[in-house]
Amino acid sequence: MLVTNHVLSGAVIGAMTRRIVPAFLLGIASHFVLDAVPHWGNWEGRPHFMEVAVPDGLAGLAVMGAMTALAPRGRRATVLAGMAGAALPDLDKPSKVFFGRSPFPRAVDRLHKVIQDEAPHRFKYELAAAAALSPPGGGSRRGPAGARRPAGAPQTPAPAAAPRDPATGIG
Ligand SMILES: [Zn+2]
Repeated sequence: MLVTNHVLSGAVIGAMTRRIVPAFLLGIASHFVLDAVPHWGNWEGRPHFMEVAVPDGLAGLAVMGAMTALAPRGRRATVLAGMAGAALPDLDKPSKVFFGRSPFPRAVDRLHKVIQDEAPHRFKYELAAAAALSPPGGGSRRGPAGARRPAGAPQTPAPAAAPRDPATGIG
């Protein structure tokens, strides 16, 4: 899943969590949940991956800054912690590009790879997730309590019996 959507989900989690460490850990957990639901990906080679990953990474950083600024003062630290945790597992991508290796243990990388449910035709899934996770759809903006979603709930559309493709390593 796009890191921008991981960041958005981390902001939602952080806005709904009172303490920094749980927000960070729930953010990490949300990453693996979102990567396991059907999403866009399975690129044809490195150039195509970079075409998506670079703007996505920059957008994710911009969203992190915006959400930190938008968060109510009392929630700013937990929102930031949630976003940092949610984005953390994807640090393997820039790390591989710049340093040639993942910073995580092999078991983590392996789990991160096998849970991916990616297909190249699913860009609309990412848009739906972004819409659901962004203010005012879901994000960290204060609104009616009834509009809040439960923490950790996947915001993407239900899987439509999509075939699983094990030949992926990106997400
Ligand atoms: Zn991932």
